[in-house]
Amino acid sequence: MKISSVTCPHCRAAYEIAESTSAVGAAGRFDCGVCGTPLSAWDEPKLRAFRLEVPPEHKYPRVPAPPSPA
Ligand SMILES: [Zn+2]
Repeated sequence: MKISSVTCPHCRAAYEIAESTSAVGAAGRFDCGVCGTPLSAWDEPKLRAFRLEVPPEHKYPRVPAPPSPA
């Protein structure tokens, strides 16, 4: 199993890619699940799994302002 990662250049969503080195899959492609930008395409019969690591809306969390001291 090979693990790598890819970040969508458009919306900054981060994906983890798990690629099986033993199991045979199929040629395919992967588009960003958030904005649809093509992120990866392969012609070899590979088994790849993509997992969203960091949704873009969570990348820069909005921190609520601390309550002002009474
Ligand atoms: Zn995207």
